[in-house]
Amino acid sequence: MNYKTLLFYSAFLLLVGCSTRTDKEIIADIFKTSQYDTTSYHTLRILSKSYPNRLCGTPISIKAVEYMKGVMENEKFDTVYLQECTVAHWDRGLKEIGKIYSSKEGETKIAVCALGNSVATSANGLKAEVIEVKSFEELEKLGEKIVKGKIVFFNKLMDSNKVSSFDAYGEVVGFRFSGASVAAKYGAAAVLVRSCTTANDTFPHTGVMRYKDSNQIPAFAISTIHAGILSKQLTTDPKLNLFLKSDCKFLNDEKSYNVIGEVRGSEFPNEIITVGGHLDAWDITEGAHDDGGGCVQSIDVWHIFNKIGYRPKRTLRVVMFMDEEMNQRGGKKYAEEALLKKEKHLYAMESDGGCDKPLGFTFDTNEEYLTKFKSYIPLFEPYGINVFVNEGSGVDVEPLKEQNVVLGELVVDPTHYFDFHHSRYDTFERINIQYLQQGGATMASLIYLVDKYGLK
Ligand SMILES: [Zn+2]
Repeated sequence: MNYKTLLFYSAFLLLVGCSTRTDKEIIADIFKTSQYDTTSYHTLRILSKSYPNRLCGTPISIKAVEYMKGVMENEKFDTVYLQECTVAHWDRGLKEIGKIYSSKEGETKIAVCALGNSVATSANGLKAEVIEVKSFEELEKLGEKIVKGKIVFFNKLMDSNKVSSFDAYGEVVGFRFSGASVAAKYGAAAVLVRSCTTANDTFPHTGVMRYKDSNQIPAFAISTIHAGILSKQLTTDPKLNLFLKSDCKFLNDEKSYNVIGEVRGSEFPNEIITVGGHLDAWDITEGAHDDGGGCVQSIDVWHIFNKIGYRPKRTLRVVMFMDEEMNQRGGKKYAEEALLKKEKHLYAMESDGGCDKPLGFTFDTNEEYLTKFKSYIPLFEPYGINVFVNEGSGVDVEPLKEQNVVLGELVVDPTHYFDFHHSRYDTFERINIQYLQQGGATMASLIYLVDKYGLK
C-alpha cells in the first residue's frame, strides 16, 4: 500500500469510525482529544500577552482581529471572513488620579479608574466632599439639598456568601451602570462606585456605564481596599475632600469586525449552528478569562471535530464577536446580517463566563427543547457536568432571539470569576489549562449532539 492509499484508508476509517461509534464513545473521544491538545491554550497566551487592552475601536483590537483571523485560517475551516461593523471608540487617556484629603489622616492616594463611556473631569480635576450611600433609596432620602455639588460614593459590598457570584454581581452592578445618572438628578458632581468584585484588592474593576440623558457627570470605580479606607476616613472626618481626575473621551467611531470561520454542513447546509466568544476586552486587562478564553474554546469546537474526523451535518459557524463590552455592535450586526440574508439559525451558543471548571449550560428556549437538552445529561455526567437550566444566554448571541433561534451559554464555576473580572488581574496566568480545554470539549459535545439530532 503506498502512502497516498494509506492516507485515504486512514481518513476513511476515521469517518466510518465516527459514524458507527455511540454518542458516549464520541463524547469520550472529544474530551480525551481536548485533554492532550494544548493549541487553544497557546493561542490564548499569544492573544492575552500580545494583544491585551483590546477594547473595541482601538488599533490593538484590529491587530487582535488580524491575529485571530490568521489562527482560524490555520484551522481548515471552509471559509474564514471578516464581518464589518461600526464601533464607538472610547479612550481612557491619562491614568486617573484619586486622593483623599482628611483633616485627621492627611493625604491618601486611592486606586480609581474611569468607567467605560464616562465623561472626564475638567483638566484640573474636581475636588468635593463625599456622600457615602449603599442604595438608591438612601440617596433619594438625602435629596438634592445634601447631595448637590458632592461626590456620591456607592459603597455596597458584593455579597461573597451567595452561592452564585452572578447573583451577587446582579445586586451591585446597577450602581456602576446607572449610578451616575441617578446621582446627577440630585446635582452630584461625580460618582465613585465600589468595584463590582468579591476580591479584596487594590485594583479598580472597570465596566460599562450609561447616561440616561444629557446630564452627564464623571463616573469612577474605586478598588475595594480603598473603598474601605475611604469609608473609614469618612467616619472620622465626614467633611473630608476627595480629588478625582480623569482624561477619558470619545474619539471618532471606527470600522471593526467580527471574525468568522465557517464549515459547510454536509447534509443540511442551510441550517446554521453558531458558537462564539467576544474578542474585545477592557482596556486595562489582558482579557484572558473575559473573553479570550471563550474565543479559543469556540475555535476548539471545530478543532476537535476535525481531529476526531467529525464532519458536521449542519453548517457550523465559529464567531469572534466584537464590542461585547461597550455596545454589543458585533452581536447586533451578526443578527442583522442573518436576518437580511434570511439565514436559518438553529442554535447559537456563547462562552463568556470565564474559563473555570465547566458545569453545564444555560439555555434560552421552550420546555420542549429544554427537555431534549436535558435528555443528554447522562452523557455529560461522567465529566461532572449536569447543569442544564433555562436561564438565558450571552449578550452576543441574544440579538438572534428575535429570529426564534434557540440560544445558550456555557456555565462554568463562577466562584472566582469576579475576583479578576474587568481588572488588571484578568491575566493569562490565571487560566487553568485543564478547565480551559474541558470547557471547549463541553461545548463541542453539545454542538455535536445538536448537529447530529437537531433540536426536536
Ligand atoms: Zn465578557
